[in-house]
Amino acid sequence: MEASLYLHIPFCAGSCGYCDFYSLPVRPGGPGLEAFIDALLGDVRDYLARFAVNRVPTLYLGGGTPSVLGAARITRLLAGLRSLLPAWPEEVTVEANPESADAAFLRACWECGVSRISLGVQTFYEPSRRLVHRVGEGSLLPERLSLVSALFPGAFSADLMSGLPGQDETVLLRDIETLLAFNPAHISLYALTADPKLPGSPPDDEADRLWLLGRDALEKAGYAQYEVSNFSRPGKRSRHNIRYWRMENWLGIGPAASGTVIDDHKGTGLRYTVKADAGAYPAPGFAEHDGGITFEFLDRPTLIKETFLMGFRYTEGPDRELFKTRFGTEPEALIPRTVERWRKRGLLEGGKTALTPGGLLLLNPFLLEVFEELG
Ligand code: SF4
Repeated sequence: MEASLYLHIPFCAGSCGYCDFYSLPVRPGGPGLEAFIDALLGDVRDYLARFAVNRVPTLYLGGGTPSVLGAARITRLLAGLRSLLPAWPEEVTVEANPESADAAFLRACWECGVSRISLGVQTFYEPSRRLVHRVGEGSLLPERLSLVSALFPGAFSADLMSGLPGQDETVLLRDIETLLAFNPAHISLYALTADPKLPGSPPDDEADRLWLLGRDALEKAGYAQYEVSNFSRPGKRSRHNIRYWRMENWLGIGPAASGTVIDDHKGTGLRYTVKADAGAYPAPGFAEHDGGITFEFLDRPTLIKETFLMGFRYTEGPDRELFKTRFGTEPEALIPRTVERWRKRGLLEGGKTALTPGGLLLLNPFLLEVFEELG
């Protein structure tokens, strides 16, 4: 079976005020990380065997902040993975944050076969960083971005945020301009959801306007939108993330990770979720986890719903061939009325079943109509 691999490293240098990911504050070099790496590698071996995986097209280390592992540990983890995987994946991404992505860490990644670094920039604007308690000093960003772009030319991604407290049009456009000077191949522009815990956030309509301004600036600079929040130079899309949007198999390893394995012939799937409890990790192997993993059977209607939910985020829409193989029909055959209405409004592409850039802005109302029609 073919499956991508996601490893969750649930540790960060601090705790950002807006964060929804499972992560615990840890200091680089802090205790417990060696045992954690052993546990991850043990689980990778078990999961690959359990699901009879013989091809891993993409590998993604996310979190949390994988760069808090430091150079020596990332080397050990990646070397361990190399010995366990059937072959080295075509795309290997490591997420990093400036405070821990030093030269030694980045060089170790490069030497171990990492093909892509995804750097959490968010904003260069210190007042906004402080207002959302963003970990790390903004002043480190230029140096770390220079290192990343020197070691991974044409192969790094950066995250930016819009709708931050204290951010206005000038700040956002300056953030984009500053980032573009480092020549990233890929940029994610995330809209921060207004949160009462984060005073000073712009009102919703202003946040929407800012995101649109950011989108237009990125498009103008040659970064084409290919998903709700993702933009890339030609040929530089994230292959790993595309697999999520196309609902292709992936195995998630580590606390709070989940995996989905699909039976293409039956049009059903299995989802598992690992408990978000780094304290209970390492667990003694996949089969023996004691309540540490929950399983969910995805029946055909559920899988169709998820395929639409994920697929319409992507500018190519749900994959037509995969859809036919799994469900024996074309995507639009299941939602003909919605497709017709949205095509007439010019919000769904003519040749493919995918939302236009304008349609993507209305993804939620579109999905409501889709689900209503599915019944
Ligand atoms: S660095 Fe990322 S994962 Fe860690 S607390 Fe901040 S937003 Fe969350």
